[in-house]
Amino acid sequence: MNYIGIDIGATNLKAGLVDDRGRILATQKMKIVQIESPDALARNLARMTQELAEEVGVPMEEIFSIGVGVPGVVEIRSGSLQYSCNLPFRRVPLRRLFHKYLNKPLYLENDGNCAAVGEYYAGAGRSSKRFVTITLGTGIGGGIIHNGKIYHGSNGMAGEVGHMSIEYNGQSCPCGRKGCWEQYASASALKRLTKRIMDENPESVLRQVVDENDGHVSGQSAFIAARRGDPIGQYVCNAYIDYLCAGIVNLVNIFQPDTLAIGGGVSNEQDEQLLFPVRRIVAQQSIPCEPDKRTRIVKAELGSNAGIIGAALLGKKKRI
Ligand SMILES: [Zn+2]
Repeated sequence: MNYIGIDIGATNLKAGLVDDRGRILATQKMKIVQIESPDALARNLARMTQELAEEVGVPMEEIFSIGVGVPGVVEIRSGSLQYSCNLPFRRVPLRRLFHKYLNKPLYLENDGNCAAVGEYYAGAGRSSKRFVTITLGTGIGGGIIHNGKIYHGSNGMAGEVGHMSIEYNGQSCPCGRKGCWEQYASASALKRLTKRIMDENPESVLRQVVDENDGHVSGQSAFIAARRGDPIGQYVCNAYIDYLCAGIVNLVNIFQPDTLAIGGGVSNEQDEQLLFPVRRIVAQQSIPCEPDKRTRIVKAELGSNAGIIGAALLGKKKRI
């Protein structure tokens, strides 16, 4: 059986045809700005589904379902999209609109939960019944799998790990709180921290690294500078990792998952610079427990495809 996964990002809507094992067989994408109405969104999802099936040569009967992952608030039971910062409309009854064009099950989920489902079936969470994934991007996405199921909470909104406060009275967050984790440990936060420390240290190797990159501060800048022996770059890395671990230790203490996976571009840094220090700090700071019972902290495995694969495999969850 095959599935369609849709990942609604900030700029592009990406669609993929995914098989039972979580392999992407074909993809398509379109610009979000081309979607002028909720009905156009539904129509395009149906069109892409049919085109992907044709491209791979899979009959429509062998497409089980369409899964849609979106940052924001969704109502999973009715398949409605309540709100997403990536789309200009609210309260979209997506499943109902979609069924005007194609009679297939449509599942809707928050993108953090999709990443967790993808990693659970086809990536870093394969052998873990209790699994947490975090995705370091513009914000911090989260997904919690408990005994093989997404933990939704009473209203489908659970797993917003990026908005746990790690600094009471800290930086303001658009959600209305102060000190939210994603204001300190997202990829965007890393870039802001890098820029601030670089501006305070104009003679640093960190500054050179950024100059070599046409003056563009990236999530990699501090790690590159640190590899060249720059104490300023290393300072940024250490500060960032401390913030990252503050939230991870909270998650480990609360959920004690078998595995916690870190995804997003930042997670691709060398293990010596990111994963190993994170493991060391989390082991030191989380509630003591025997080494063989500790949460495994690993890198997510699906990369930028996690959204498509996870959205697609929402259907697999329903089938089995
Ligand atoms: Zn917040």
